[in-house]
Amino acid sequence: MIQRITEQALCTGCGACAGVCGKKAISMNHNLGGYLVAEVDEAQCVHCGKCLTVCPSYEKNQSLETIREACRGSFLKGGISYAAEKRIRREGQSGGLVTALLLYLLDSGKIDGAVVNQFCQEKQAPKAVYASTKEEIVGGAGSYYAQSAVAETALHYKNNRLAVVALGCQAKALQLAGKGSGWRPEYVIGLVCAGQNSRHMIPYLANCAQMGEKERIAKFRFRYSHPAYGGWPGNVHIVTDASRYTVDKSYRTRSKSLFEAYRCLLCYDQMCTSGDIVCGDPWGISGNHVAGETVVIARTEKGLELLLDAAQAGYIHFEELDAEKILKGQTVYPRLVHKVYSGYRACRQENWEYPYQLSPAAEKETEEVPRKEYKDYLSRMRYTRSRFLSHSAEEVEALTAACQKEQSRQQKKQKRKNTLMLPVRVFRYVKRAIKR
Ligand SMILES: Cc1cc2nc3c(=O)[nH]c(=O)nc-3n(C[C@H](O)[C@H](O)[C@H](O)COP(=O)(O)OP(=O)(O)OC[C@H]3O[C@@H](n4cnc5c(N)ncnc54)[C@H](O)[C@@H]3O)c2cc1C
Repeated sequence: MIQRITEQALCTGCGACAGVCGKKAISMNHNLGGYLVAEVDEAQCVHCGKCLTVCPSYEKNQSLETIREACRGSFLKGGISYAAEKRIRREGQSGGLVTALLLYLLDSGKIDGAVVNQFCQEKQAPKAVYASTKEEIVGGAGSYYAQSAVAETALHYKNNRLAVVALGCQAKALQLAGKGSGWRPEYVIGLVCAGQNSRHMIPYLANCAQMGEKERIAKFRFRYSHPAYGGWPGNVHIVTDASRYTVDKSYRTRSKSLFEAYRCLLCYDQMCTSGDIVCGDPWGISGNHVAGETVVIARTEKGLELLLDAAQAGYIHFEELDAEKILKGQTVYPRLVHKVYSGYRACRQENWEYPYQLSPAAEKETEEVPRKEYKDYLSRMRYTRSRFLSHSAEEVEALTAACQKEQSRQQKKQKRKNTLMLPVRVFRYVKRAIKR
């Protein structure tokens, strides 16, 4: 049953198992490490095994022929885009493309509603919700880098004509849930995802903002790209009942290694290969993106039609880009594939369960990873796995503190190295200048 997935720290928090459980025996809750996990009520469970059939971490559900191909997925057309309506572009995470597409689908009567994310004040964490009005959809703009049970919410509203905004794991879970019945959301709008984090990242960043102890967060943006607050890629933005805080983006970037989810370190599906389209930030694409732009790949005919129709209807601006440019910007090769290679090797070495089945060819590929990269990756995996499986709040605190200490030791080492290398760099600079 699904416990075997959570006991191996492999739960993505998507909630598909809770969504299909006929006995309502599964609920999604945060564990001590702040990760969203499936919890089973043994008294209700009838051990039918349905939960495993929809789980993107059950190894029998996904087999990879080659890792390089699996990471890429299909590619019909790609480009750079943004919402035509100024307010949407400003409120959006990148260029507001996802929100603009949802609005086009709603206005043209192609969907009844969409599954988006919002900040839940009660839980002080993001929550997947069903949005059926323009204001609700716009209220969901922006990216939440902590987990939410998107697949559970989508399955709850499966009788509606739905567009679901989903990460790779969530989109895969929905695909598995539809197997056999032919059910599928009308549209799956994928997001590029290099990993989700524990919800503990939110109070950590609030603490960096020196927020008052009694204040409660009413609105939280991991990255707010509104031009009035510095534009894309955006700083952390917090609104409480008493005040408004901005925290420099470097705090968010640095804190990622403290809170990242173990399962995400094994994921090949950064580019959401089961979506109709996939949207991401314009990383690595030349040009000035401060006003907000989204890179997009159409993966299915339906996704391509949506993009072109929305552009023609004036909801978005779209300019075609070469596939390789987008994949290079997203560092699919070699960073992502090396990450998957390392993850597989680490699981084999440590005797940890692995969430996919690999063909002999894919297994052979994993031998290519550089030794230093593998070593660093293994230590990240050990830390995140222990954090996920912690048995007490004290253990979580101790692990986080040890990771912070190691992080500052590494920073000091790098600083020393930079100082020592300074004369060499100056010498090289002068040599180059003389040659010119
Ligand atoms: C966890 C996570 C990791 C990401 N990592 C990368 C990355 O490494 N590289 C990259 O290029 N892009 C990444 N993205 C995507 C990027 O942040 C933007 O979401 C994307 O570029 C679309 O921007 P937009 O302005 O078009 O979307 P918007 O118009 O702002 O709409 C974003 C939509 O996503 C929904 N959403 C927010 N959080 C989640 C969530 N956790 N799960 C499901 N839906 C959600 C919102 O409710 C909204 O409907 C990530 C996003 C997430 C959520």
